[in-house]
Order: sequence, then structure tokens, then C-alpha cells
Amino acid sequence: MLAVRGVTVRFAGLTALDGVSFTVAPGSVHALIGPNGAGKSTCFNVLSGLCRPVAGTVRLGDTELTRLAPHRIARLGVARTFQNIVTTEGTVADNLMLGRHVLTRAGFTAAALRLPGAVREQRAHRARVREIAELVGLDAHFDTPVTALSYGDRKRVEFARALCLEPDVLLLDEPVAGMNGAERARTARVIGEVRARLGLSVVLVEHDMGLVMRLADEVTVLDFGRPLAHGTPDEVRRHPEVLRAYLGA
Ligand code: ADP
Ligand code: MG
Repeated sequence: MLAVRGVTVRFAGLTALDGVSFTVAPGSVHALIGPNGAGKSTCFNVLSGLCRPVAGTVRLGDTELTRLAPHRIARLGVARTFQNIVTTEGTVADNLMLGRHVLTRAGFTAAALRLPGAVREQRAHRARVREIAELVGLDAHFDTPVTALSYGDRKRVEFARALCLEPDVLLLDEPVAGMNGAERARTARVIGEVRARLGLSVVLVEHDMGLVMRLADEVTVLDFGRPLAHGTPDEVRRHPEVLRAYLGA
């Protein structure tokens, strides 16, 4: 279970998060919604160790993540995607292998020298990476340069790269932003399948309310860094504060 308690973040006079608390049950999808600037990406930065809160805690089970470095949090099983595409040059396989990096035991030197243990390990990583590519529907593009892919496929590479960490908790920052209708539907299906098959928890930041309503078990609404409402998608949809502040009703 991932527990966020009273997290507060300030940037030079601006309170980006103000006492944010929510809990993500194992195997559930928790959506974090709110207008632009509400603090959703900042919250992901706190969860992944890129940003230190001035108050509050983040715990994964019994382990406090709040002051750990990003690579340690990743190794403990929290993976994320970024709102903007961060995949580099190279093929889909190359990018997914990068996602595997923190799980690699043999150092780069051992791998470069092609020591037997390192070679065996790389082979196992590559086999697993191929399975993950299949899971998200990228197997046909396994050896394709990422830059040659459609936007939707490229966003799915980001998603697959996070999965390569074998996370228990997956943080998805606007996974369908910029996609067309068909790509959105496909990605939504893939997220649902991955969650069911791998049994991981998902924290989903997304503006596409159709997707949120379909995938989320629980929703937390942020407004100017403050938690505005919390509940099931149906409860949140009917919440008067949400209707007023967020949906503009
Ligand atoms: P969201 O993802 O909900 O759109 P963000 O978390 O990106 O919102 O931003 C929340 C607020 O914090 C915004 O007002 C944004 O301008 C500000 N902010 C985010 N990151 C930084 C930073 N590194 N330095 C200063 N201000 C920031
Ligand atoms: Mg954002």
C-alpha cells in the first residue's frame, strides 16, 4: 500500500502542494485529477524522489520513501512515466533495456567485457523486455527506432519502459495526452490489461475524464495544490465543489 500523508511542497513563495493525503490500495487504480497547475506532476515528483516536500510523508508498506534518492525509490518498486516524452534515440528494445537498468546487477564494465554472468543476465533481461513489449502491443516494433514510431506508439514505449522496472506501483502522468481517439482506446485497454495481469497499483494523472471514470477505483481531486474531493469516480463526479471548481458548472 502506498500512503501519502500531509505532503506539502513550496517553490519560492508558491505552495504547489498543501497537505495532500491519499492512499493507494494494492492492485487498485487511483486517479489524481485537477486543472493545469493543480500540483499533479509535482505530486509524482515527490512520489518518485525528484522533489522533497517541506512537510508530510510517503510510505510504501513499512518503508518511508520521503527522503530517498530516485533510483532507490525505483528499486523499491515505484516506476513512473513523464508528462512529456523522454525516450531517447535507439530502438524500442534499447529504450526498454534502459528501463531495466536499475535492476541490473552486473556493472557496466562486466557487461562491456562480456563476462559470462553479465551476458546471461543481459539475455534474461532482453527476454523479459520482449514479453513486456508484447504485453503493451509493441512487439512488432521491437527493433524499430523510437523516432520512427507514431506518437501513440511512442507514448506506449514510455509506459513499457516504466513496466520494465517490474514495479509494484506505476505512476502514469497523462498517458493518453495528445493521442487520437483510437490510440486512446488502445492505451486504455492496455493499461487495464497490464493492471489485471501484473496486479500492480496505478496512480493515474489524466485529463481524459472518460478514461478516469473507466479505469479508476478511487479519485482524488486537487485544486491549487489542495485536496478538494476524494471518492469513487461516481462520488467525485457528483461532488458540488468539483462541479464548481473543476468542471466549471
Ligand atoms: P499539474 O501537473 O497539476 O499541471 P504541476 O505540478 O506541474 O501541476 O505544477 C503545480 C504548480 O507548481 C504550478 O503553479 C507550477 O507552475 C509550479 N511548479 C512546478 N514545478 C515547479 C518548479 N520546479 N519550480 C517552480 N514552480 C514549479
Ligand atoms: Mg502535470
